[in-house]
Amino acid sequence: MNPSRYDYAIEVVLQDGTHLKQVPVAMDWGPAVAWWRFMALRQARGEVLPRRGGAVIEPVWDAARGAPFVAGVRVSLAGADGETAVVLPRTYFNRAALEAGRRLVEQQLLAPRETFLYRVIAYPKSEPSARPAGLALTVEEADAPPTIRASSLAALSENATAVGPAHEADVPVFIPQAVLDCATDLSLEAGAEETAGILIGHLCRDVESAQLFLQLTDLIPAGHTRTKTTAVTFTPETWSAVQAALQLRRSDEVWLGWFHSHPAKYWCPPSCPAEVRRACSLQQRNVFSAADCALHRTVFPLAHSLALVVTVSDAGVRPALYGWREGLIVQRGFSVLQAAPGLRELVIGDATIGEVYEKECN
Ligand SMILES: [Zn+2]
Repeated sequence: MNPSRYDYAIEVVLQDGTHLKQVPVAMDWGPAVAWWRFMALRQARGEVLPRRGGAVIEPVWDAARGAPFVAGVRVSLAGADGETAVVLPRTYFNRAALEAGRRLVEQQLLAPRETFLYRVIAYPKSEPSARPAGLALTVEEADAPPTIRASSLAALSENATAVGPAHEADVPVFIPQAVLDCATDLSLEAGAEETAGILIGHLCRDVESAQLFLQLTDLIPAGHTRTKTTAVTFTPETWSAVQAALQLRRSDEVWLGWFHSHPAKYWCPPSCPAEVRRACSLQQRNVFSAADCALHRTVFPLAHSLALVVTVSDAGVRPALYGWREGLIVQRGFSVLQAAPGLRELVIGDATIGEVYEKECN
């Protein structure tokens, strides 16, 4: 079922206020619906949601301008009162706005890399049967609720060190130092190639506060990936190998996400002087590329799915964690169990999400 009775458009506005163009967009509601389900699960009322479908998405009108200008979207259960509703901010349209901008660059109406502003506009659908291609798949993907294990947040927090950007909308994530060490070793061994693996562990609920959190237990190296220097592809063999490993371990672990490396030091030409390479912004930034976003959206669409990226730069090896927040992929904080001193300083830089990274040295 298509959850939206509205069509959406991005109105692109230049920085001087000139209205450039309205671009119709086909919205991907999958991450919004996944976030809505996860919020219900977090508030321990996941049982009120049907196992599949049931979501209705409606625009929240801009308070100042009114309809058709959109301030966000409201996801709720069809036919229910407001209790299950979640409101997602206008940032949910960032990806669609970037795509609209890209189309205007193609039409030479906008210069490449030109900064623009955007408004979101919604209109009731003219034809009730019209639906963007692929939408049915994205909203039907929520399956049975995940297995949740009872655990103690306080006990884990005692041995944990928080790293990276914290945000109130994120659930706590605990990663053993051994998992980070394993990811580092794999990344260094792979040299100029990207390497990858699957993160496993438990989705937990605190016995005292009923708060949800994630505890990673291990990283299963993906021996069957196809890698290039700037991309990784999981193959069906990867999935069967991980499934077999999980069954052998008999610890009721589930897939929590994926890991891959960014061999950034190999993105700079070897002729570049060492001190320039260490300060190179290409190596310093934490990047989650457009290809990374596409893989995460396709393979890890659950709202608690994580992506660990280890960047190997000339200045050192640096982990960064990404996950879903309000339907967007963002860099997020985590806690290291039995953290080695000094790790806090290793997580640096602003995240760059969804940019296609280019191999150019500066
Ligand atoms: Zn990547």
